Amino acid sequence: MLELRPSCENCNKALPPASTDARVCSYECTFCADCVDQVLGNVCPNCGGGFERRPVRPARNWKNNNYLGKDPARSDCTYRPVDRAAHVLFASGIAAIAPGQR
Ligand SMILES: [Zn+2]
Ligand SMILES: [Zn+2]
Repeated sequence: MLELRPSCENCNKALPPASTDARVCSYECTFCADCVDQVLGNVCPNCGGGFERRPVRPARNWKNNNYLGKDPARSDCTYRPVDRAAHVLFASGIAAIAPGQR
C-alpha cells in the first residue's frame, strides 16, 4: 500500500493526504512539487528515479473500507534536507535521461 508521508523530505512542508502538491518516487520518497522542480530536477536524491503526483486516498468509505479512515497517513515526518551540492553532482548524469529510461 502506498505510504502517505505527512511532509516534504527536503523542506518539511506539510503534505496532507488530500494535497495535490505531493510527489513520490517508486520507493515513496515524498517531496513537494516545488522541491522536485526547483531543487531536485526530477531526480530522486535517494534512488535516482523520477517523480509522479501522489494520488489522493479517498477520505470517504466509498467501498470495502478502502479509505483514509482505515488506512491513514503516517504521522512521523521524514525530514532529511538534501545536500544541494551533492545532489547536483549526483543528478548531473541522470537528469537528462527520461525517467522511463532510467
Ligand atoms: Zn519541499
Ligand atoms: Zn526515490
